[in-house]
Formats: sequence, structure tokens, C-alpha cells
Amino acid sequence: MEKKLLDNILEKMKNLHVKTRLDAGFDKLTTLGTGGKICAAVFPDTISQLTKVIRYCDKKGVSTVILGRGSNVLASDAYFDGVVIVTTGINKFRIKRCRAAAQCGASTSALARALAENGLSGGEFLACLPATVGGAVVGNAGCFDEEIKDILKQVTVLKNGKICRIKGKNCKFAKRDSIFKHNDWIVLEAKFKFKRSERDKVRRTIAQMRVQKAQTQPLDARSAGCVLFHDSVSVSRLIDEMGYKGYRVGGAEVSTKHAGFILNIDKAASLDIYLIIRDLQRALWERYGIIAKREVSLVNFAEDNNDVFSKCKE
Ligand SMILES: Cc1cc2nc3c(=O)[nH]c(=O)nc-3n(C[C@H](O)[C@H](O)[C@H](O)COP(=O)(O)OP(=O)(O)OC[C@H]3O[C@@H](n4cnc5c(N)ncnc54)[C@H](O)[C@@H]3O)c2cc1C
Repeated sequence: MEKKLLDNILEKMKNLHVKTRLDAGFDKLTTLGTGGKICAAVFPDTISQLTKVIRYCDKKGVSTVILGRGSNVLASDAYFDGVVIVTTGINKFRIKRCRAAAQCGASTSALARALAENGLSGGEFLACLPATVGGAVVGNAGCFDEEIKDILKQVTVLKNGKICRIKGKNCKFAKRDSIFKHNDWIVLEAKFKFKRSERDKVRRTIAQMRVQKAQTQPLDARSAGCVLFHDSVSVSRLIDEMGYKGYRVGGAEVSTKHAGFILNIDKAASLDIYLIIRDLQRALWERYGIIAKREVSLVNFAEDNNDVFSKCKE
């Protein structure tokens, strides 16, 4: 990026009181702990700051990437010559009767805890996601047979610089998919609806879910959760069946505890993880004739999803 443009961005962030870092890398901003350096990372605390940052970058033609907790992102090892906007500071939520409204950077587990305190059921699974509300909405995150689409009523988005509201039923939710994965709209806030229950019962359900997750998933290792999925079959089971547990490329490895997880076990490069994903996709195609879709979002990769699939079929 030209020095003058970067200086202008820094000046603008200062005027907006938005924290900025010039030494950040994707390795520090994603749970996988991999990825290249970033020209500038900014940390807005309010929705107003976020919308102003996006509008400014758009006006200046600066590339942006939006990140929540970075728990579903594989960023390439290349330098990112743009601005990464981290939403975790925009984290307020409010609960009234059976409804909750949460800002995009709110932690799903903090929201789940507050729902439990209020004796509201339906959001227990949120406690098991290392996510922000925005990231969870984008990927229609879920577990234990519950997904965001089951509780979401309305999303406020920044769409082409304008703030709009979209009803949950119009978000084109599908397994780990939504309308937001196919456009550049920014999720600003989400409204949810829950059912009345008893505080202790909700707390117990959360505790049970957490135990089950810890027993079956490598939660203490660096990962992005399950990397692949298929609409009708369990990809993790098939990866296990093919003997890929423990399969290693560079510093990355298919978890021996849960075959759906790829771990950064020893200073992995993003390329190591990417190559494992591609190997697994190819093996699933060759052995079972299924196309496993990528759950993790690629950031700053020259190659896109379709290229991976076309390689699969070669
Ligand atoms: C240990 C572990 C366990 C996991 N278990 C599960 C699970 O059980 N179920 C499940 O579904 N997932 C799971 N995941 C994956 C991940 O936690 C979820 O996909 C989560 O919803 C991602 O949220 P995030 O805030 O980290 O999003 P990020 O990873 O930061 O972003 C994900 C994508 O959304 C975009 N994005 C983020 N915020 C916004 C916004 N406000 N507006 C527009 N775009 C945005 C990003 O650009 C990126 O493309 C797991 C991950 C880990 C590490």
C-alpha cells in the first residue's frame, strides 16, 4: 500500500478513535494460529465506528477482511495489503423477555451464559462455539442438532454502505451456509428468539454439551473446528474410515481424536493445512464419490473453492 494512503487511513482511524495495529498477523487473529502479516488491523468498539471504517476503506478502494474470533478462517501465508477489521470489541447484547439482540462481535458463549441466567432455552449450543455472533450468523454455526437459523429472527447488515434489516427466513440458511457467505455485506447486529425454561435446566444442558464436546474434540489444540462437511453424510466418519487420522503435512495434522479437525501442531503454515484439506477432498471424491464442502473460510488466497473442487475431480 502506498505510504500516503496508509497515512490517510491511520489519520482517519485516529479521528474515529479506532485502535490500530501495524504489526499484526493472521496468526495472532485466528484460532489456527497461521497466516501472513497484515498491513493494518483495526479494532472498532462500536457499530458506528465499524460502519465508518468500512465506508472509508470502500471509498479509498482499500481491501478489507472482517474477522470475529477467527475460529473459522484459514488465511494464506501471503502478506495482506489491506485492512483487517476485528469485531470483538463490538460486543454488547441485551435480553428482554424471550428475545435477545446482540452486536456482531458479542461472544456467543457470553450470550449463552446470560440466556441461562434469564432462564431462556434454545441458545445452549451457543455456549459450545468459540465464536462471535457475526461469524456464527455468516456460517449458520451449530452443534447438537441446533443451528443459528433455528433462533435467528432478524439481522441488521451494512449492505453497499447502507444499513438494512433482513428477516431470518430470508437469510438463505443452509448447512454451514447463508446469504452472507456469498456477498460482502457486514453483519452488524442479530436478533434472536428463545423459549422460557428453568435456569438450572439450561445450565445443566450447557454443562452436558460442553463435557460431550471436550470428550470428542481436541479443544486444547489450535484448529478451526471441523474443516469439511457434506449435506447428508458425516465427513469426519469417512475421513476416519479412510485411515487419515494422524495424516500430516508440515506442521499440520488430522486430529487423532476427531478426524474432522486439522490441527496446527508444530508451527504449521496455512499452506500445510490447505494441502491437507485438498488431499482429504480428493480422497473423499475418489473413494466415495462425494464432494465435501469446505467449512473453513479461505482469506487472502488467490485460489478459490471452485479450483479446489476442480482439482478434486482431475
Ligand atoms: C475448537 C473449535 C470448535 C468449533 N466447533 C464448531 C461447532 O460445533 N459448530 C460450528 O458451526 N462451528 C464450530 N467451529 C467453527 C467456528 O467457531 C464457527 O464457524 C464460528 O461461527 C466462527 O465465528 P467467528 O466469530 O470466529 O468468525 P470468523 O472465523 O472470524 O469469521 C468467519 C467468516 O465470517 C466472516 N465474518 C465474521 N464476522 C462477520 C461479520 N460481522 N459480518 C460479515 N462477515 C463476518 C469472516 O470474514 C469469515 O469469512 C469451531 C471452531 C473451533 C476452533
